[in-house]
Amino acid sequence: AIDFKWIRDNKEAVSANIINRNSNANLELVLQLYEKMLNVQKEVERLREERNAVANKMKGKLEPSERQKLIEEGKNLKEGLMTLEEDLVKLTDELQQEAQCIPNMTHPDVPIGGEDCSTIRKMVGSPYELNFPVKDHLQLGKELDILEFDAAAEVSGSKFYYLKNEAVMLEMALVNWTLSEVMKRGFTPLTTPELVRSSVVEKCGFQPRGTNTQVYSIDGSDQCLIGTAEIPVGGIHMDSILAESSLPLKYVAFSHCFRTEAGAAGTATRPYLPLHELLYKEVSVLYGTLMEFLSRGLYRVHQFSKVEMFILSRPEDSNSYHEELIGIEEDLFSSLGLHYKTLDMATEDLGAPAYRKFDVEAWMPGLGRYGEISSASNCTDYQSRRLGIRYRPAQPSSTNSKKGKGPTQFVHTLNATACAVPRMIICLLENHQQEDGSVIIPQPLRPFMGGLERIFPR
Ligand code: AMP
Repeated sequence: AIDFKWIRDNKEAVSANIINRNSNANLELVLQLYEKMLNVQKEVERLREERNAVANKMKGKLEPSERQKLIEEGKNLKEGLMTLEEDLVKLTDELQQEAQCIPNMTHPDVPIGGEDCSTIRKMVGSPYELNFPVKDHLQLGKELDILEFDAAAEVSGSKFYYLKNEAVMLEMALVNWTLSEVMKRGFTPLTTPELVRSSVVEKCGFQPRGTNTQVYSIDGSDQCLIGTAEIPVGGIHMDSILAESSLPLKYVAFSHCFRTEAGAAGTATRPYLPLHELLYKEVSVLYGTLMEFLSRGLYRVHQFSKVEMFILSRPEDSNSYHEELIGIEEDLFSSLGLHYKTLDMATEDLGAPAYRKFDVEAWMPGLGRYGEISSASNCTDYQSRRLGIRYRPAQPSSTNSKKGKGPTQFVHTLNATACAVPRMIICLLENHQQEDGSVIIPQPLRPFMGGLERIFPR
């Protein structure tokens, strides 16, 4: 239920938003297809009325020749209708497909521009003073015998890994501790299907097809592997009308996530440089190598575990729940002793569904940089319109209409990372490493690891 009429009536604002978000949506084409669809719809209705009129005439007493004429007329109308109805289905599909690319509108406070225009909302802590040669998580993982990349590359390919020994306990501890912390704040825990229909992926605002898709599809089926639990959790109330009293619905979901990472260090993200072709190619290769280097080890992998928060709320409450979600993330990351900054992401970095997005970037001393560890988005009604999730606002007592029978509205949806395990393991290993090569486990995780305080090199 994309509101095409609204898009048509607010064409200038929608067009400016598409430009601000550097989106490749084709608004003109969407509006042309919409007009065409309206015309075909009108024609279909006209032909249906004519067909009904003919059918009614046939009920009366008629001369045989007149009856024969009406039968002919009815037949022609039926054939014409069938063709038009087929056209209407095709047009509607095309329109929906094109409209998928139109991004959500944007919160007025979001900075306009590329990644460097994102503004810092908060800076927490400062980098630990590590007065010894700092190791990255790959080296620590090897010396502690807790991460295994080479065998994973043989077995699965690059960007896969085995967790081993204490790292396995660390993953379980991170997941269980995060779940318990978020549940304390009133969220309902879920584990989710990890294969979902591609239509649900699309309705959540992700592109399951195309050369640059982030989504793995299953051959010979219409199912995909999820890139985030946001998809199955978003789908849980698909095509339903919720009671206002049930809102907000707050979920915290554990799932594995699968991502192709197409273009992550490839041509799609390389900057265009107006240089000689040959030089351009070399610069591209160098840029790709640099990105690979910055994303090494566990930083960018094809499969990982994640705990995700998801809220369905009344429209008027979504901005304050967005603040609540980023607040929970900040509490969690502070409890684990991380140094991080929270960013209000600029328009070009929002993706299609988000109205506003707050990312957290934590200091990773071994990688020598800040890296994104979480993302909290208010998607307003972008996903709920496509997924068909409505609620029925209670009627004010002064109105005469039957209780609970007001018009329905779309809910707002919000999602936020509570713990993306691999990047959290990078942060914990690299920030809490000691001169003797051991790594200290933060206090809150210890009860979830049988009291373990430190991991020692083997
Ligand atoms: P997103 O759903 O893209 O906002 O990602 C949520 C979080 O998952 C990010 O902030 C990262 O911490 C983590 N993440 C995303 N992609 C990957 C990946 N390929 N490998 C490891 N962690 C990832």
